[in-house]
Amino acid sequence: MRIEDLAAPGVQRLKAYDPGYDPDTIRRMLGRDRLVELGSNENGFGPSPRVLELLRAQDFGDAIRYPDAGARQLKVAIAARTGHDPAGITLGNGSHELLVLIAETFVAPGDEVVFPQHGFAVFKLAAIGSGGTPVEVPALPRTDAMPLGADPVAMAAALGPRTKLVYLANPNNPTGTWWDRETLAGFLRQVPEHAVVVIDEAYREYVDEALVPDALSLRELHPHLVVTRTFSKAHGLAALRVGYALSSPALAQVLERTRLTFNANLYAQRAATAAIGDTAHLDHVRAANATQRDELIAGMQRLGLRTFPTQGNFVLVEFGRPAKPIEEALLQRGVLVRPMGGYGLPDCLRITVGLPDEHAVLFAALAEVLEELR
Ligand SMILES: *Cc1c(COP(=O)(O)O)cnc(C)c1O
Repeated sequence: MRIEDLAAPGVQRLKAYDPGYDPDTIRRMLGRDRLVELGSNENGFGPSPRVLELLRAQDFGDAIRYPDAGARQLKVAIAARTGHDPAGITLGNGSHELLVLIAETFVAPGDEVVFPQHGFAVFKLAAIGSGGTPVEVPALPRTDAMPLGADPVAMAAALGPRTKLVYLANPNNPTGTWWDRETLAGFLRQVPEHAVVVIDEAYREYVDEALVPDALSLRELHPHLVVTRTFSKAHGLAALRVGYALSSPALAQVLERTRLTFNANLYAQRAATAAIGDTAHLDHVRAANATQRDELIAGMQRLGLRTFPTQGNFVLVEFGRPAKPIEEALLQRGVLVRPMGGYGLPDCLRITVGLPDEHAVLFAALAEVLEELR
């Protein structure tokens, strides 16, 4: 008997999440010390100096003790920043864990999980892994004003009596696309009460607030709304693994039954608490990202490439040909970007906004590669 056949039915149908390249492995393979890492939407502008100072000051004597399972201080800090009731906050080992935890907690075989085509990859994996039925809703066409974005009409039409869970990232990774307030509000009103609706706001800190609504401000429109956010992106703490979900206290209590008790480690809790309090640093990151994002888009356009609208710290770029060879040739030059074949966009690459010197290397390498592969 094959071991795969012993796995739960959902797990048998599952493929492991593709985390992209491990930079250390690539450094060794290429014999280079320095890479330009624009493949994982990390924050090249760095975390708050307060966080770095706090981490350096740790003596780690308390590493022998379990952390606070309730993460009280961090929840108080998140509550202060968001205005949300601490009893409705659930912490995760990254928001990735929360996205999966929500499916494991609410989805049973036969339940449908609705999410958009080109939506964040974890949505489909969580749907399948939990034994549910994935309902992948076709995205808007490339010719739309919000090209490749989630189609609000089709998303609403996909809702039904078996819908248990809905996922939407706003803005979405990898497309960068978003729904405005009216669109999101109109959709939330149509989600049945027997479903949980997750709005993934991993890039919330980067958005133009006049264009992208804070889903929390629409919480009255659905009783089972969950908003997920993370310290991995704008806060610059991807390695520490902290994300959080904002919901009703009742929904948080149900998640508490399945959450791994100590999933947010002690140093991650401390670092995240310091990070969320440093609003000046976040303002700096937001402004630097906006400037550099414009620069990245302009650079791609100078090379004759189409870019899609984005509210994140990344840009989806269309090459008009299979993009995998381009990605591989960039990798050989020490530049990491993300191929999009797995998202059904094999002619595109997703490129994270970087520092000016990183862009200079990227633009030169890409010009060379495009010339070579012509
Ligand atoms: C990066 C990302 C996440 C998860 O990040 P964590 O590091 O697990 O918090 C979640 N959703 C989207 C859309 C992302 O791009």
